[in-house]
Amino acid sequence: MTHDKDAQTLDFYAAEAQAYAGRPREAEHRRIDRFAGRLPAGARILELGCGGGQDSAEMLARGFDVVPTDGSPELAAQAEKRLGRPVRVLLFEDLAETAAYDGVWAHACLLHAPRPALPGIIDRIHTALKPGGVFYASFKAGEAEGRDGFGRYFNYLSRDELAAAYAPPSRWASLAIDEDTGGGYDGMPTRWLHALAVKQA
Ligand code: SAM
Repeated sequence: MTHDKDAQTLDFYAAEAQAYAGRPREAEHRRIDRFAGRLPAGARILELGCGGGQDSAEMLARGFDVVPTDGSPELAAQAEKRLGRPVRVLLFEDLAETAAYDGVWAHACLLHAPRPALPGIIDRIHTALKPGGVFYASFKAGEAEGRDGFGRYFNYLSRDELAAAYAPPSRWASLAIDEDTGGGYDGMPTRWLHALAVKQA
């Protein structure tokens, strides 16, 4: 079932894939440090919405067993060029594995999940994690869903709304949400929410 995706957002990434994947972008070294520090050596990591594949490249270089994926076939093809390995075309809402990953990395991608779809996607991620597994995701902060100047959909969540999407809290051993200021492809200053959750062992 793919009715939860936003077609206009995926159309943007299809049209812009080469430029988007080729933009100057460093891997998220500091965030990856925190995520990776909670994982065993060689851990199996699912990356959702990998875009140009920079974060998967960094995690592979650190010796992790990374499964890079993206919902856009065009971006998956770009990431394949960077990584020199297959990149699976996977929509968030089609993830259907159980206890398969030590970690799930979702940098700046679940922010495109329509608000009503997000809790179900987080359920799927929780199911795909092994007990004690680690889940990182980042979101643009806000109060109401909307589109940017490129027509991309963003769920623009408050901190409380984001925490609610992870409910029930009892299924996580921990959930930490912090905020910072950064940018985006539209060049606008942006408040970001970073969520790091650990599944109950
Ligand atoms: N994670 C990369 C990064 O930080 O550079 C890419 C971030 S980009 C803002 C969002 C990514 O999510 C795009 O690669 C896009 O194709 C992907 N995406 C959008 N909707 C998706 C969906 N429903 N399922 C899977 N991926 C999706």
